[in-house]
Amino acid sequence: MAGLYLHIPFCTQRCVYCDFYFTTTYRLTRPFVDALCIEIDAYGREYGEREAIETIYFGGGTPSLLPLDEVALLMREIERHFDTAAVEEVTFEVNPENATRDYLTGLRDLGVARLSLGVQSFFDDDLQFMGRVHDANEAMRSIEAIEQVGFDTYSVDLIFGIPEQPPEHWMANLERAANLGVPHLSTYGLTVEERTPLAKMVARGTVTPTPDEAMGERFLDTMSYLRQHGYEHYEISSFAQPGARSRHNQVYWRHGNYLGFGPSAHSFWRETPSFAGRWANVRNLKRYEALLRQGHRPLEHQERLGADTLADEYLLLRLRLLEDGLNLDVFEADYGVDLLTEKISALAELEAAGLIHPVASTVRLTDEGALVADAVTAKLIG
Ligand code: SF4
Repeated sequence: MAGLYLHIPFCTQRCVYCDFYFTTTYRLTRPFVDALCIEIDAYGREYGEREAIETIYFGGGTPSLLPLDEVALLMREIERHFDTAAVEEVTFEVNPENATRDYLTGLRDLGVARLSLGVQSFFDDDLQFMGRVHDANEAMRSIEAIEQVGFDTYSVDLIFGIPEQPPEHWMANLERAANLGVPHLSTYGLTVEERTPLAKMVARGTVTPTPDEAMGERFLDTMSYLRQHGYEHYEISSFAQPGARSRHNQVYWRHGNYLGFGPSAHSFWRETPSFAGRWANVRNLKRYEALLRQGHRPLEHQERLGADTLADEYLLLRLRLLEDGLNLDVFEADYGVDLLTEKISALAELEAAGLIHPVASTVRLTDEGALVADAVTAKLIG
């Protein structure tokens, strides 16, 4: 079972921290949707009968800038080219300023069962700093609208470590979300990505990033608070009430196949147990549309992944799953890596440092390990 991802590259304005591909100068979305249909058609012919589709995810950018008739067109195009009979989850990213009851009702009627709402904070000064379009009132109103329209489940994104954000803002954000009964929360530490307005502000000295130590404290506080309030911390950035985990993201984390459509979208497809292809589309809307109209794949990059790379990736992805962890027997059977033999001293060091917690044949990150997951992974791969 595979996942489909559609990247909708339109935004009303630029958030200071964002390094996703998007454009704020669009007028009409329809030419892009037509190009997307060409891409879906092309991949449908090649992959449509190879694996049934399990999840569909509309991300961006801001998918909620698409008119409903264009969302309907894309859904029909996917159904025409892929086996969607067993789809378990269709997720749609929505920004609070677009979350009207009419729009949400339209999405629900088109088969969207899960929303991902880009709230980021319930405080106006945080939202203004980040350059978000919505304010705190709109964030609250959008959650009310989601509840009223009656979605099966939804997720709220929140960002911590905003420069000069008082720690109590962050805890108040968590408290607000938990009190509202939000079924799923994705929490991200604000990072300074290259070529973003935030990176320029830091370079000019007008903004000082939150120190790593304070970021770590916020993250540990988050884990503790949300667990106490009934959330399962199932992946480093993801907290879910029982039964509300994201199925689409689990396709990525369990190393499943997925196809990405739209500019900058990535795809991964395993051809054999020890060989897979990965490719990424161009990060330019005009070029993406032009290449498709000329009958080309809109590729910027493609690579072939062999057994060693696949094993490293699997380890990295599984360690992100804090509850499931990395099962060493499965890792050896499916990827041919006997970690207990090959990395016995690294495993012992990580355990002694309190960063991993091996039980029987499963290795899981501890809370402290989750803070430095990349460093833990680096010690175990290669
Ligand atoms: S709305 Fe989302 S994709 Fe668009 S600029 Fe802001 S963070 Fe980036």
